[in-house]
Amino acid sequence: MEYYVLTLFPDMIREGMNTSIIGRAIENDVISLEAINIRDYTQNKHGRTDDYPYGGGAGMVMQAQPIYDAYRSIIDRLDYRPMVVYMTPQGRVFDQQMAQELALQKGLIFLCGHYEGVDERVLDEMDVLPVSIGDFVLTGGELPAMCMIDAISRMIPGVLHNEESAEDDSFGDGLLEFPQYSRPEVWRGREVPKILLSGDHAKVDAWRREQSLMRTADRRPDLLLTAAISPKEQDFVKKYLAKKEDL
Ligand code: SAM
Repeated sequence: MEYYVLTLFPDMIREGMNTSIIGRAIENDVISLEAINIRDYTQNKHGRTDDYPYGGGAGMVMQAQPIYDAYRSIIDRLDYRPMVVYMTPQGRVFDQQMAQELALQKGLIFLCGHYEGVDERVLDEMDVLPVSIGDFVLTGGELPAMCMIDAISRMIPGVLHNEESAEDDSFGDGLLEFPQYSRPEVWRGREVPKILLSGDHAKVDAWRREQSLMRTADRRPDLLLTAAISPKEQDFVKKYLAKKEDL
């Protein structure tokens, strides 16, 4: 996977992504990441990349020319055209399924907005996919792009090592993950659930599945509408919720 990030703050991307698991994947050439400074491409002699919005109103708008030229600097040297993801609160909300789909791409270009956003014409010209990371407004698209790169990269073979497996992660099977425990067995009087010490893998799996169902019912009941759960499990959830209401 080749990531290209069009941004006014390339250091933020480089520093944010060059540590831990993603940093290791870059180092090992499992993925590559290039942060391109949009300002390097402006034709404005003062280095400006933004201007006032036509029609008036607060804030500044990122101009089309520097963004488009920065974009061309990428695609003109590639023999394929990567999808362009525009980070915006007005986009489809990013989720695990989108991360899995995008992980199949050969390359992705992320465009990070700032200020009031980006001149609409360059978005049309580049035929962008608008993506949001949630219903709130941030100052720039850099953190959203980093969130996406992190989540997508975890889906790429070779990025996670065995001990970091994504197998049971939340959303993998449409449910939240079960609670996790590590040593010691007792901490501040709180004990690890006995079943986890039993060594009986079938029982541990069954307990974890029930915990996932209960946790999802408690915290994200909306997920139960689309998760792949059996009629028996649906019955389990109904009984669990009825019992909770009785308490
Ligand atoms: N005026 C814009 C609007 O109302 O839609 C918001 C602009 S925001 C202050 C500046 C930039 O931050 C956006 O262009 C976008 O790149 C990024 N951004 C802010 N919130 C975001 C979110 N929830 N998801 C993705 N990108 C976001």
